[in-house]
Amino acid sequence: MRAPFIAGNWKMYKTVADAVKYVKELRGLVKDLDAVEVVVAPTFTALFAAAEAARNSNVGIAAQDLYWEREGAFTGEVSGQMIREAGATYAIVGHSERRTLFGETDASVNRKVVAAFAAGLCPIACIGETLDQRERKETFDVLDRQMKQGLDGLSAEQIGQLVIAYEPVWAIGTGRNATPEDAARVHAEIRAWLRRRTEGQGATRILYGGSVNLKNAAALLAERELDGVLVGGASLEPAGWAELVRTAAA
Ligand code: PEP
Repeated sequence: MRAPFIAGNWKMYKTVADAVKYVKELRGLVKDLDAVEVVVAPTFTALFAAAEAARNSNVGIAAQDLYWEREGAFTGEVSGQMIREAGATYAIVGHSERRTLFGETDASVNRKVVAAFAAGLCPIACIGETLDQRERKETFDVLDRQMKQGLDGLSAEQIGQLVIAYEPVWAIGTGRNATPEDAARVHAEIRAWLRRRTEGQGATRILYGGSVNLKNAAALLAERELDGVLVGGASLEPAGWAELVRTAAA
């Protein structure tokens, strides 16, 4: 069995000092866990300091976004190369908050996924349907479009290396999570899609995200289809987060 991948998305929370304090505490709490991959995603300003605090530990660092150009007149943007240099090894791409609040499209997700690979980062590509789409029974059409366009041009090897986070939009930050069976059913469809796209390659890790917490994590992770979880709110406090990571490693 593969080690579960447990990623915490801090969104726009935590100063540099907060991030360093958190990572120093977390690295101690998870130092004996090798059956799990644990990653946290601080804001851009805290990336370097968090990565330094995580050095030589089993805590990985992700950025929450990136821009696809290497450098240039792109005010406010941060490139994959800059993120890699700051010490991150992952980058979240296409989070639903970026899609709904900042105009991220499947085409821009695609450019960012490609750029992440070019910079030596592993993309965590987020996909998921809204409540309306779910009620109209369009979930698989939406995921099909998001993957077709978002992963366009990638090699089978790259698709095997990346991480997909299935995050139904209706479950993010709402306290309403998908049932383990529901999540597993959708993951199986995503996995089948990826197998078709890569002619059999089944290595892509598929995470579930959406109101995961200490209470529901064990039941979700008991589903073999889930390779891990992407967690927002419940990742913000190190002791609770470490306990959730321990649950995954158990
Ligand atoms: C997220 O931000 O990706 C997320 C899943 O948030 P939450 O766990 O708070 O629903």
